[in-house]
Amino acid sequence: MASQEVLRRIFGYESFRGDQQEIVDHVVSGGDALVLMPTGGGKSLCYQIPSLVREGTGVVVSPLIALMQDQVDALRDLGVRAGFLNSTQFPDERALVEAEFLAGELDLLYLAPERLRTEQTTRLLERGRIALFAIDEAHCVSQWGHDFRPEYLALSHLHERWPQVPRIALTATATPATHAEIAERLNLGDAKHFVSSFDRPNIQYRIVPKNEPKKQLLELLRTEHAGDAGIVYCLSRNSVEKTAEFLTQNGIPALPYHAGLDAGTRARNQSRFLREDGLVMVATIAFGMGIDKPDVRFVAHLDLPKSVEGYYQETGRAGRDGLPSTAWLAYGLQDVVQQRKMIDDSEGDQQHRRKLMAHLDAMLALCETVECRRVRLLDYFGQSSTPCGNCDTCLAPPETWDGTVPAQKVLSTIVRLRKERGQKFGAGQTIDILLGRKTARVIQHDHDQLKVFGIGTELNESGWRGVVRQLLAQGLLSIEGEYSMLVTNPASDEVLYQGRKVLMRREPERAAKVKTAKAAKSAPVDLPAEAAPVFEKLRTWRTAQAREQGVPPYIIFNDATLRQIAATTPSTLDELSAISGVGENKLAKYGQQILDTLSA
Ligand code: ADP
Ligand code: ZN
Repeated sequence: MASQEVLRRIFGYESFRGDQQEIVDHVVSGGDALVLMPTGGGKSLCYQIPSLVREGTGVVVSPLIALMQDQVDALRDLGVRAGFLNSTQFPDERALVEAEFLAGELDLLYLAPERLRTEQTTRLLERGRIALFAIDEAHCVSQWGHDFRPEYLALSHLHERWPQVPRIALTATATPATHAEIAERLNLGDAKHFVSSFDRPNIQYRIVPKNEPKKQLLELLRTEHAGDAGIVYCLSRNSVEKTAEFLTQNGIPALPYHAGLDAGTRARNQSRFLREDGLVMVATIAFGMGIDKPDVRFVAHLDLPKSVEGYYQETGRAGRDGLPSTAWLAYGLQDVVQQRKMIDDSEGDQQHRRKLMAHLDAMLALCETVECRRVRLLDYFGQSSTPCGNCDTCLAPPETWDGTVPAQKVLSTIVRLRKERGQKFGAGQTIDILLGRKTARVIQHDHDQLKVFGIGTELNESGWRGVVRQLLAQGLLSIEGEYSMLVTNPASDEVLYQGRKVLMRREPERAAKVKTAKAAKSAPVDLPAEAAPVFEKLRTWRTAQAREQGVPPYIIFNDATLRQIAATTPSTLDELSAISGVGENKLAKYGQQILDTLSA
């Protein structure tokens, strides 16, 4: 079958998207490819279709062991002969898949990367016929990136062992530095590079000052995402547990996920998130890679991510179906202090710490920017763009203000504490001194006798926290020691003594945003009012089907396909087959049931 025909008959899609056609043609004709495409861009087809067109089995290397079963189920539902080999299987299951592969009865074989390191697996592969190697989540080979997996380094040998077999490496996250590293480590020097736009226009990016994070989150979910599925990321296991509990107590169904839970609980929670509607997953970053649930409506961060790459990858899990979605991050002074301290305490050499610091600085710059968030994000991935109109800074532009004087007040307090008293303190005490508060600790240390005591009444506590935060973010102030004490650095001296100006961001009124976000949401995508109950009927049918087969509902049909069926109400199998996402196998399997559901 030609690739166009595979697309239409097996996957039920009318046409290729973006670079898909070019990539597929290139790999079908035996070329190597490096594909950079954002989440939801349609990477899977780029190796699935060549695997079906070329002689032999497409071998897909993926770190996502927990999702292989779902991926294989989805392919089998399309009529594609797929299997996987990983450590979760019983020996007899594995033997069966191996036999199928050797008999040439598999179109696609998913493999965990550590499998490829065993002689047993290489011998198996050498005895079969391989159509191509696909290396999914290829950024895992990069030590510069945020998700390095040592077992990926072994993949560089594929080429030596199977020089004739084309390789396609794919990732949704790659700065120019990571991109170059992937090419080098995987020996993809001669591969053709396909770089799509990294923009995810349906995601609205918002970064807000953190006050009472759990309450702010609750407000967001109640006002804008009632009943929606979403992911909330927290830094620690403890805050994952607490946040999940808090949401549940407030009537929002939420599940925890972190590496401290036993494997069974993790698998159960993940499976419920994929299979049930409207669940919120509260998780550490241990959760989410490869989660291809298309209707995640929001991704919220309660703590600052460690890098822009990580942040973009995590927020990219929202809105794979192309419908409006929110990426929301609450960020405050404590985040900067904590992350800087974690880097100081981290193991590894100086170079490693410098790398972590560079990642953090880029993330802080994104948080503090007064420009379009998307412009900054895309710029980080080497793509230039213009203001998007769908991020917080576009919707309610923040002002900049000259914060030089407040900056000098903070710095000079720190200098006086050190010079006059030989002391170092954290942000709390410094701010108490500026505000002229006679707290027990101020009195204990006689800090009300300092010349700077009470010189900062023009701002309130949160105003001062904002100033300290921005000084830290801009590198005009440093943190030291176990108690995160504030200390000046050479850049601080420029502000204090050499007239260096400090521009700061003033937070805008929040109200405007929420409104626009709501307006965007309440316009359900191309679904006329009379089609809504039909859509619900189809959804009920889909839920029942999914339960019966033990698969996530979107594996049967995704929302976009169901919406289109609801809007056009086909009355014959022929009409139904014209809808995007209805291929031959699905038509044969579900067509009559859909028609029956529509006419019931
Ligand atoms: P990625 O792996 O890049 O995140 P997927 O391969 O999961 O993206 O594709 C995202 C969604 O887009 C899936 O639901 C997929 O079926 C759909 N899709 C991909 N290519 C096409 C196409 N050419 N036409 C219609 N839908 C497509
Ligand atoms: Zn913008």
